[in-house]
Amino acid sequence: MTFHELQFEPELMEGLDAMGFEKPTPIQQQAIPIILNNKDIIACAQTGTGKTAAFLLPVINKIIQTKTQSIDTLIIVPTRELAIQIDEAVQGLAYFAPVSAIAIFGGNDGSSFEQEKKALTHGANIIIATPGRLIAHLNMGYVNIGNLTHLILDEADRMLDMGFSDDINRIISFLPKKRQTLLFSATMPPKIRTLAAKTLTDPEQINISVSKPAEGVMQAAYMTYNEQKLPLLTELLNGKKIASILIFSSSKEKVKQLERELLRAKFNVAAIHSDLLQDVRTEVLRKFKNKLLQILVATDIMSRGIDIDSIGLVINYDVPRDAEDYIHRVGRTARAETTGVAITFINPEDQRKFKSIEKLIGNEVKKLDLPGHLGPALHYNPAAYVGRPAKKFNKPRPQNTRR
Ligand code: ADP
Ligand code: MG
Repeated sequence: MTFHELQFEPELMEGLDAMGFEKPTPIQQQAIPIILNNKDIIACAQTGTGKTAAFLLPVINKIIQTKTQSIDTLIIVPTRELAIQIDEAVQGLAYFAPVSAIAIFGGNDGSSFEQEKKALTHGANIIIATPGRLIAHLNMGYVNIGNLTHLILDEADRMLDMGFSDDINRIISFLPKKRQTLLFSATMPPKIRTLAAKTLTDPEQINISVSKPAEGVMQAAYMTYNEQKLPLLTELLNGKKIASILIFSSSKEKVKQLERELLRAKFNVAAIHSDLLQDVRTEVLRKFKNKLLQILVATDIMSRGIDIDSIGLVINYDVPRDAEDYIHRVGRTARAETTGVAITFINPEDQRKFKSIEKLIGNEVKKLDLPGHLGPALHYNPAAYVGRPAKKFNKPRPQNTRR
């Protein structure tokens, strides 16, 4: 299938050309005709497969055709960074089309609130918002949302993980009942089905993924004791010519500490976590995207949805708490059919968690030998570590009970 066969308006075709998109990705091929047909969808495809354009292209095309002057589409997303990124994607794809958009998110100053208020009153065509900030506007009563025709929930699974379920319901209570709703998610846990049953009408389902990182990612892991992690990291980073390296750690305290340690070792590094002002977060991300910053240390804020060209290396300094988060973190590299490397540090306590990740992705990740001078190596033995008794862990599961 080509974009041409989708019969997009010429302004949109020009935008696609300018973005260098030649043909639709599989999720786009499946989702776009259904969305153009005004049907609800629930779509699940792994990270980096082009979900953003899968919903933006048909929506932009319809806005060009209807020439609407009011709010047509509301896109709800879990993080500010993702709101900004989707706004940028609209600016790119709709560059030649008379379609307006604004990103609405918290953490900035009063003047942006006023600007958002103006856009929401006069009707930007596409609103991309984080839940809390949007509710603040909706509660004031001036949001002109009566003509809304599309509601899009992006990274829906993440929003539920972040506890946005009530917020989403609250937002929906403000919207016209008759609308098209599109739900996008990288994974499809049961609670997403519950949300879908409540918010979608007779949806078509698209399921392109099993839970697996993109295919171009080379995955490996080191078994390490905690005190070996920092020396190992420094050794891996030393002399690396890779332009963009993303390091994940589990808490913002650890992220801050890692940033300090790496700065002390004279690396070109900065951190992103939720204690920073939004302006600082935006600026750090901009520098990283523009390759002015080689190493970014982050909490899972960065693991969902954020698309940065050619991150060559992702390091999980800690094993993520949630197995699904591993797929998202690792999905930050090898975007759009490029290749990348993802390395995870596994300490004794995290072995069991890593085992469940390997189960989810359906194969064993290669364990590399720790450089000898870093001290005695830890051997992978998930069953030996506390949490639950080893016996229970080893008990074979009955067939077909995986959720
Ligand atoms: P997802 O939301 O599925 O994780 P994104 O929508 O962020 O993925 O897209 C990943 C990358 O692929 C982006 O850089 C985007 O510009 C690019 N992309 C999307 N669709 C196409 C296409 N049809 N052709 C080429 N590149 C594309
Ligand atoms: Mg996405």
